[in-house]
Amino acid sequence: MSTEAHRSPRNEAHISQLASVGQIAAGIAHEVRNPLTAVKGFLQLLKERKEEHYIEVAQAELENAIGILQNLLNVSKPDLEDEPFESIDLTAELELLMQLFQDQFYRVELVKSFQDPGTYISGRKNQLKKAFFNLLKNAFEAIPGKGRIVVGHSASDGRVTVYIQDSGTGIPKQKMNMLGTPFFTTKQNGTGMGLTLVFSVIYQHNGFIQVESDEKTGTRFTITFPVAAHSKKYKEVVRLQLQSTEQMDLKQYFRTNRKAFEEQLLTEAVNVRDKIDEILRVGNINLLDNAYKLVIFIVEGREHEVISFAKTEGVTWAKHSLTLAFKLEWLQAVRRVLWSFLYNYDLMSGTISDKEHFFNLEKRINELMDLFVNHLFISYSQFKDDLIRAQREMMDDLSVPIIPFTPSISILPLIGTIDTERSLTIEDKVITQIGTAHIETLIIDLSGVLEVEPDVIRRLIGVIDGVRMMGCQCIITGFRPGFVKMMVRTGLTFENKAVTKATLQQALADVIFKSPPPGTVSPSVHS
Ligand code: ADP
Ligand code: MG
Repeated sequence: MSTEAHRSPRNEAHISQLASVGQIAAGIAHEVRNPLTAVKGFLQLLKERKEEHYIEVAQAELENAIGILQNLLNVSKPDLEDEPFESIDLTAELELLMQLFQDQFYRVELVKSFQDPGTYISGRKNQLKKAFFNLLKNAFEAIPGKGRIVVGHSASDGRVTVYIQDSGTGIPKQKMNMLGTPFFTTKQNGTGMGLTLVFSVIYQHNGFIQVESDEKTGTRFTITFPVAAHSKKYKEVVRLQLQSTEQMDLKQYFRTNRKAFEEQLLTEAVNVRDKIDEILRVGNINLLDNAYKLVIFIVEGREHEVISFAKTEGVTWAKHSLTLAFKLEWLQAVRRVLWSFLYNYDLMSGTISDKEHFFNLEKRINELMDLFVNHLFISYSQFKDDLIRAQREMMDDLSVPIIPFTPSISILPLIGTIDTERSLTIEDKVITQIGTAHIETLIIDLSGVLEVEPDVIRRLIGVIDGVRMMGCQCIITGFRPGFVKMMVRTGLTFENKAVTKATLQQALADVIFKSPPPGTVSPSVHS
């Protein structure tokens, strides 16, 4: 079929997704029809006898049906790029997803092995559901006849692990490193986009994937995520084995117990712990040293140092595109450990127990900590804003490339769509450049201009007027049929304003052979 051959890869992915939804639609229809039939029955009964509990049952059945449909919709919905991060109960979501493969249960036994339900991860729900849907789908597709799939879930040491293990055909060793490559598929109607999505979603969630496969026993995908911060229990101040003497001030106390401080920080900031080396490597940021430095500034009440330290940290963090979530988790851990330390200090020295003293200290310490966080984020976002602005300016500049051909002839190839803002940039850059580079002939090539609105032509005429006013000749080339039609229709014309040539080559041949090469004196002047 010709349409098959012309399908773009994008369409292919889309069509297959619909097809896969179609595949499971039979199972869904069955699942939805049952509760709906029940609802119908209860409505019938209600007509005859007005009994309250019929309404309740009918309502529950209806909700059941809606839930199943909602579940299906969530998987087939297009990507929600801006979907916010939320706390997700993975086991609950996995169970819902597993139901979508009902029509396969007659041949594949689906076993769940959930060790730690109720552990949350933080993420984009629909994206994650799509990822797991694809993994499950692949597992079912890998089993030709009868077989078994185990979906497992466990949590420990600040991580959540999910695995999907199938008794399917396995993946040959030489194909393992192709997994996740867009369009890599071994299936006749495959798209090879499933695992690409899976890898990208998991990566976005700071998770990682491990694949083990054996052509005799099948395949196991293991995915590991960091646990959501809030599912950890509320943290209280802890008693620590610290050294202190009565004469020690806070600074000495922190210096003496620096090692314990760092160890405690690492136990509290589970997700940052593994990234410490990476952050040191990427951004040359020593999180442990910095945390200690910050705490000393804070207990000594050195406000100026706190602020300037926050500013440099914000910039470094932004410069190396480090994830802010880690910084936040780290700072929260610093705050908690700091308070645990103060608590232990008081246990030993008894100097903070006085109520007024305590509240003053609380105010001072938390204010300085907040000051640090605020300044860090302000300087972080300022740096990012500046970066975006600079990139935008660079893009604007690149979108008007005036290429010198000879000292007096330049070419401006226009590409893409020209809107008001861009036409202003073009005008500005062209006129400045003609002035500074003494361009005498400017060839504007339009073959890359995609959209032709009458407005675009009007704006171009404006640019050409400007060029002429600067005493520069203008040659326009590369008219597309759409452009010409639009000009005829609107009566707009370049006549008396610019020379027109069909192609850039023609225009160049013309200017080279007709005008004397630069630097030579024309014969008429010579005689
Ligand atoms: P598709 O399913 O459209 O082929 P995917 O990206 O989902 O695309 O998968 C790519 C390829 O990886 C599949 O064609 C298959 O060869 C292999 N694969 C993925 N999951 C499994 C699995 N559980 N068992 C065996 N092979 C798999
Ligand atoms: Mg797939």
